[in-house]
Amino acid sequence: MYARTPPAACSRSTKQRSGSKRFPAMSSSSSHAGAASPGKRQPGDEDKKHARKKAKKEVNADESGDDGDLRFTMEPFDCGKSLAAILRTAGLDVARGVAPLAVESHCAGVDAPVLGLTAMGVPTRVVVVSEIDPAPALAHLLHHQPEHMVPNIAYGKRCQGPCLKHGGKWCSWQSTPRRDVMLASFVCTRYSTQNPARHSKAYDPIQEPGQSNAADTFFEVRHIIKETQPRFFVLENVDGITRTRGKGKGTPLDFMLHDETFGLLALDYTVEVVSDCRGTRTHLPQRRARTIFLGAHHSEKTSAVTLKKTFKALLKISGKGPVHHIDSFLRNAVSADAGASDIGGKSDVEHVQDEIDYHQALKKALQDAHNHEVWPDGGKLPALSARPSQGVSAPPGVRARIDVMSVVLGKSLGEGKHPLADVSQSMDRLPWCTDGTVPTLTTNSMIFSLKLGKFIHPKVLARSMGLPDSLNMSFLTVSQQRKIVGNGYIAPLAAMAVAAVCKDLPPAVAAAADRASASTSAGGISQRQPPAEAAAASSSRPAASISQPASSHQRPAAASRSSQLPGDRAHRGDG
Ligand SMILES: [Zn+2]
Repeated sequence: MYARTPPAACSRSTKQRSGSKRFPAMSSSSSHAGAASPGKRQPGDEDKKHARKKAKKEVNADESGDDGDLRFTMEPFDCGKSLAAILRTAGLDVARGVAPLAVESHCAGVDAPVLGLTAMGVPTRVVVVSEIDPAPALAHLLHHQPEHMVPNIAYGKRCQGPCLKHGGKWCSWQSTPRRDVMLASFVCTRYSTQNPARHSKAYDPIQEPGQSNAADTFFEVRHIIKETQPRFFVLENVDGITRTRGKGKGTPLDFMLHDETFGLLALDYTVEVVSDCRGTRTHLPQRRARTIFLGAHHSEKTSAVTLKKTFKALLKISGKGPVHHIDSFLRNAVSADAGASDIGGKSDVEHVQDEIDYHQALKKALQDAHNHEVWPDGGKLPALSARPSQGVSAPPGVRARIDVMSVVLGKSLGEGKHPLADVSQSMDRLPWCTDGTVPTLTTNSMIFSLKLGKFIHPKVLARSMGLPDSLNMSFLTVSQQRKIVGNGYIAPLAAMAVAAVCKDLPPAVAAAADRASASTSAGGISQRQPPAEAAAASSSRPAASISQPASSHQRPAAASRSSQLPGDRAHRGDG
């Protein structure tokens, strides 16, 4: 796995320990992990050891966490080529598919998994989709052309509902033949550590149906799985589900797996979980960490244990590659001002009010920067006319934070550096990166480049998440585009999770099968391996790259094969 060396140059503006006034992101060894929780102190260099210890204890650590030392490349990113190389190394041959994978997708957004599969050359048939937000729904309809789309996941279990594909008329669809894969990125707001309420001791992110008016789409997802019995499922959420629910209650993840009434393991499925899945492990400059659930129906010959092993092997191979620097996504840069968003047509009075508000917001941002000890010694705001916010069309508070951050990060410019700050957030929570990665995106994120003196356009951010340029968002407002990107999941990560599933779905992906798990590391090809598979494994590929289990506490490969019988009931992994 990753060296636990704290990465430089990605942080939040939080307080430093006394004695160190140095701005953390300028330090070559500042700790990101220790800087995670809003309002927590930021350790200086001398406190590294302590910081690491503390980071382990920090249950509410930032989901963008610790990436280890990153290597960067300026080469353009090609999602299809990148995935093909990873699958080749793993011995998973993506077939020139014949029959498309039948997919059902809930809380789909723009369906990164389907985009990832397309990049791999795996054809899909999107049977039914639910998406409540009109902007991604529209982009999804245009790009994927699903057979039906409903505006709420609640229609999924009934297999009928008002259909956006068919002009709002009531459509029904069959749950048979069963879907090959059900995908769902259920709503993460309740679980995310970006949600301030999540840091309150009294707050329990799990509200069982009937307990609160706030709908939790996890329960809907589970209900659909129960009713429609897909062969496999791949679910995605934030790593916040692995943080405690409060004293004695375990984590949301524990509940989602093991609860007797509502847990996924009470269904006819084996389920495994992989947490800490980061964009930076898929060659992309995204710090976000995600938790992926892999489920296999008991009637399938493959259990979730095998799926997890394959997925982790793919992640391990992928994680060895360099990360594409944000600058490599700026090609054909989109010139439109991505901050202006939907503001426009202001009256003279409103302009004057904006200027008054700017100066007040600036005062507050400066005070916050001092309070959080991120303001550099001798730091000085330039004259008004020379400030980077001049000429930027954005709300007054955002402009104030741009100007303050330009001083705070002023010394981070230099070769290989690209200071990016999410100025949508208040100074005490404001995340930044300077090394060529992007701070964890939210649906409101406004990523300002202090190098370019403008916002990074959502189109560029979409590229940096592996989404293709062919995904047309041009008919949406900039803030709608930002929402799509901030809500999304990273295409190659999603694709690798589904690839782990679809290696057992013959028409789409030829089974070079369990070569990943039946590696030579445990004393040669396992005797349980079918002859054809053994021959294939012995005749090709750099087996060594995948021969070690991705995690040191996994069982040796040969031993684990015996546990891959249908009906295995797997439990939560090491996520
Ligand atoms: Zn329809």
